[in-house]
Amino acid sequence: MHDLRISVTDRCNFRCTYCMPREIYGRDFAFLPRSEVLTFEEIERLARIFVAEGVEKLRITGGEPLVRRNVPDLIAMLVRIRRPDGGPLDLTLTTNGSALRRLAEPLRAAGLGRVTVSLDSLDDATFRAMNGVDFPVADVLDGIAAAREAGFGPLKINMVVRRGINESSVVPMARWARSEGHILRFIEYMDVGHSNGWRLDEVVPADEIVAMIDAELGLEALPPNYPGEVADRWRYADGGGELGVIASVSQPFCSTCTRARLSAEGKLYTCLFAQDGTDLRGPLRAGDSDADLTAAIQAVWRIRADRYSELRSEATTRLPKVEMFAMGG
Ligand code: SAM
Repeated sequence: MHDLRISVTDRCNFRCTYCMPREIYGRDFAFLPRSEVLTFEEIERLARIFVAEGVEKLRITGGEPLVRRNVPDLIAMLVRIRRPDGGPLDLTLTTNGSALRRLAEPLRAAGLGRVTVSLDSLDDATFRAMNGVDFPVADVLDGIAAAREAGFGPLKINMVVRRGINESSVVPMARWARSEGHILRFIEYMDVGHSNGWRLDEVVPADEIVAMIDAELGLEALPPNYPGEVADRWRYADGGGELGVIASVSQPFCSTCTRARLSAEGKLYTCLFAQDGTDLRGPLRAGDSDADLTAAIQAVWRIRADRYSELRSEATTRLPKVEMFAMGG
């Protein structure tokens, strides 16, 4: 266990068609009531226990993490946690970028180390259609600029590629990220949850993404930074930076997975495609000791045998999997 993703909310201000389609997650959708969401103190306590068990990297996510109030306060609490060897954590946050103009500076001041911004196209019409709420791409670009001004960098940019929807944005995004010095990560469209109507023919495989960019800009493969890194890394042959491709559908990486996920309601998941998790909030609120909570986490981790992406088939894509915004993306 190397990496813990902590979801701080199941709510989001976007309705990306591939994640929280507007037709399903409309005005009357019941998100978690506040009492069921872990408090910052509860998140910090669990994070300390996970770190004592070997986690070195915390990623704050959601839903959209920046729609939760006072997230910089949580960052300030988490940044104080030290690994058993005394070293600092790698503390990072994934966001749609819409609130970075307001929050990049306080997040940096609180001690956040890195930021990943999700951005599926530079084309305004394509981006507005994909985010489901007609959000202008210029405002995300302004958020990215704000992150940079606040001292974050290099930034990581996540782009989900969906056939027929934003494939034509792949090369322009690569050119832009390269000129700006951002690290771009292309993500194969995944069958997370069960409400996005996923179809295999909408996945643009990693090989095809790499070939598109290689043909225009020239790429060379790079070795992983560490075992279990999710992205296959490539660099521009002329030395102009790097990019990555997360091929969870066409080249599953279950066997090297070191990630655990803690949902906003305090459930522990070992797989993004899980159908259920283990409740840690109940024992936490019932007064369990750190040793009890450690034992509960170990019991889950030691017997984990999930490898959904390796078993994916027509039948598995229809399973009632937990939605990504609910688990934490
Ligand atoms: N709201 C934040 C954001 O936009 O980055 C954090 C949560 S979001 C669920 C995390 C990442 O998951 C985003 O980059 C998003 O594009 C990606 N994602 C959501 N649904 C996906 C899907 N079906 N396939 C691939 N990636 C997906």
